[in-house]
Amino acid sequence: MRTRDAFLSHCQASLGALRQEGRYREFARLEKLAGRFPTYRWHGPQGVREVTVWSSNDYLGMGNHPAVLAAATRAVAEHGAGAGGTRNISGTSPLHAALEAELASLHGKGAALLFGSGYIANQAGISAVLEALPGFIVFSDAKNHASMIAGMRGAKAAQRVIWKHNDLADLEAKLAAAPPGAPKLIAFESVYSMDGDIAPIGAICDLAERYGAMTYLDEVHAVGLYGATGGGISEQDGTAHRVDLIEGTLAKGFGVLGGYIAGDADVVDYIRSVAGGLIFTTALPPAVAGAALESVRVLKRDPARRAALAERAAALKAALDGAGLARMDGPSHIVPVWVGEAELCRQVARRLLAEHGLYATPINYPTVPRGTERLRLCATPFHTDAMIAELVRALRAVLPRIGPGVAPEAAIGM
Ligand code: PMP
Repeated sequence: MRTRDAFLSHCQASLGALRQEGRYREFARLEKLAGRFPTYRWHGPQGVREVTVWSSNDYLGMGNHPAVLAAATRAVAEHGAGAGGTRNISGTSPLHAALEAELASLHGKGAALLFGSGYIANQAGISAVLEALPGFIVFSDAKNHASMIAGMRGAKAAQRVIWKHNDLADLEAKLAAAPPGAPKLIAFESVYSMDGDIAPIGAICDLAERYGAMTYLDEVHAVGLYGATGGGISEQDGTAHRVDLIEGTLAKGFGVLGGYIAGDADVVDYIRSVAGGLIFTTALPPAVAGAALESVRVLKRDPARRAALAERAAALKAALDGAGLARMDGPSHIVPVWVGEAELCRQVARRLLAEHGLYATPINYPTVPRGTERLRLCATPFHTDAMIAELVRALRAVLPRIGPGVAPEAAIGM
């Protein structure tokens, strides 16, 4: 009883502190409308209203592609709603096997292995690798995603060395300082999700070869989007064959759900045999596997969609620059617009939504360092010139009216 009381007051105090710091997470109720992406219905306090979403990770709109929707519907009709078991216990269907084969071929690897999400793929996959050999040292980019960090922490015996984000000199110094005989893993991302910058994969592989390390690359924000067939940055810059393990998601560029790891067939088979996050959980539903398989296949042959994404991202950046709005410069489709303070960031997002019908997620600490709070915008092939102009007009109207010290508005209730 006393524990329950103490725990409840801890929860209430923490929530109060989060609210005070402007870090309390509110989930806007956004109804995705098939066939109308990026227009959604927002269920807000004043009723239901159509809004344009600028913060979707369905980067290419594949979650609305007619062939993907048809594949999902077909899979439900033919195989039912759920997988009905773990991969080991009657949950592996031909759709799962075909999807894994397709993903292995996408990355030019011997095998691929599906997980429930990209998060689980990182957590389970990295832990499995680091637990395989005694004395493993993992060299982790400072901006690696929480799921990769969870994987590293899960392997309790492994030592974690953090190198400065995308800083080759720092990585090399840290590799050189480690015992030469120790097993080493360099873990990093290709496109970084909050800044939109891109890792020098080839140069990192050079260092890995020099210091005898393995490489683990998270291509979550790149698969489907970059490379001749959607294999990510490592396909685009011809480095996929040099990376030991490539991890990706089926939930962003491919528009569905699920994560995976691709690599040498025996390595993937080993991870399949030991990773708890795979073994002890139900397989992806047939509709998800079928839809994702169709999405990967469609995107392999659709470079025009990737080109359209690049063109729209460039148009968004040019429009923001033309209006004098401060953004983080980067080569990818992720376009962060600076706000710089948590409560301010939330106010900007609230006003965009309530006054202009535009949804952009505020990104606050601890996702990004304090003082670098931002709106993370992504144009997709479906964001028109008129939508970009509307966004820029709204940002110009909302950003100058808000400054530090302005009292937070009465809850508009996102
Ligand atoms: N890696 C990175 C870099 C991510 O940003 C995310 C999610 N945003 C994930 C992994 C997890 O992917 P998923 O959403 O498929 O769980």
